[in-house]
Amino acid sequence: MSYSQETSLILDSPRGKDYTSANQPLYYSSTYHQEVLGGAADYDYARSGNPNRSLLEEKLANLEGGNHGFAFSSGIAAITAVFMTLKAGDHVILPDDVYGGTYRLTERIFRRFGIDFTTVDQTDLGAIARAVQPNTQLIYVETPSNPLFKVTDISGVSQIAKDNDVLLAVDNTFMTPLGQSPFKHGADIVIHSATKFLSGHSDLIAGAVIVNCPKLAEDIYLIQNGTGSGLGVYDAWTLTKNLKTLAVRFNQSVTNAEKVCRFLKQHPAVATVYYPADSDIHVKQAVNGGAVIGFRLADETQAQTFVDNVTLLLVSVSLGGVETILSHPATMSHAAIPELVRRQRGITQGLFRLSVGLENAEELILDLQQALETTINRQRNNKKKQYVSQCYTNQ
Ligand SMILES: *Cc1c(COP(=O)(O)O)cnc(C)c1O
Repeated sequence: MSYSQETSLILDSPRGKDYTSANQPLYYSSTYHQEVLGGAADYDYARSGNPNRSLLEEKLANLEGGNHGFAFSSGIAAITAVFMTLKAGDHVILPDDVYGGTYRLTERIFRRFGIDFTTVDQTDLGAIARAVQPNTQLIYVETPSNPLFKVTDISGVSQIAKDNDVLLAVDNTFMTPLGQSPFKHGADIVIHSATKFLSGHSDLIAGAVIVNCPKLAEDIYLIQNGTGSGLGVYDAWTLTKNLKTLAVRFNQSVTNAEKVCRFLKQHPAVATVYYPADSDIHVKQAVNGGAVIGFRLADETQAQTFVDNVTLLLVSVSLGGVETILSHPATMSHAAIPELVRRQRGITQGLFRLSVGLENAEELILDLQQALETTINRQRNNKKKQYVSQCYTNQ
């Protein structure tokens, strides 16, 4: 049948829907034709599910060794979905150095809905056990933590959770499913900011929740669909594509990070290096030390000088990209924490976080080396600056 121009503009030919392409096509459709009224078609409305998100969610579940994966519009949306499984009157135990966005979410939003949170130093299993109350429903763990790379014994917390009939959620963003498998150590819920290593190209914001228990999966799905926080089609497609290179990206980043870590540890301008592989507990529960390193300058007043002099590194928020990212927690990820609290926690001006990418490791080290030298040789540096400004004045 041939249609008018108006109708033809609306109708798509069936052609192009089912080629055997290497990559899944983008299903940019908010709604789907329903052949049987009230029937159970795979998809009806894209908020409730769509082929691009489904493929990604299956991949995420397999990667973590879980049964059900859910993709969200951000890591924070994923964490929100997990807290939304709770109700007013429930209590949650958090690490005292939890990711800043998670802290803001719990303190400023979920508290308003009557959910109570206690933060404890989760390197101390006894402190976690003592924080359990009759209304505790969830223990939330982030290991290694950020930015001081404190390590929590996942199996140890899992035992406390089981003894008290409490669920255990682990934010596994820093290690990726390739570096650490929380389910193997007794976690019930695994969370990722997929913005970081999973996507890996600093190109999108996404989050993931993976669970095994069908009841939990039902709850998380209700929230994903019911609050409309699922990941959009294009980002789901891009993340699926980017995941194909996760293993080569992560492994190479870790290899580079190990080299950079060795370099930083012997440099006189560096006072302390924080790397998870230095923790016995981390080594026991993870495959490697990951690709993110913390370090503290010997002269904490030289943070800006250091930043002024790096040339290869991207100085920014975030981590897990193909490019090496240098972050300054005190003014970036942890700026929202009052300065006194920050100082008590060791998040001072001289503390940096380095997410090591895929550049040539020797070149990364050379860049760090020359930038670190400038923090020692302040006087020479100042003289050079004066000279430069004189040149400009003379023009
Ligand atoms: C970035 C991050 C989050 C938040 O994820 P978004 O994708 O930025 O919403 C949560 N946890 C950790 C450990 C993170 O690094």
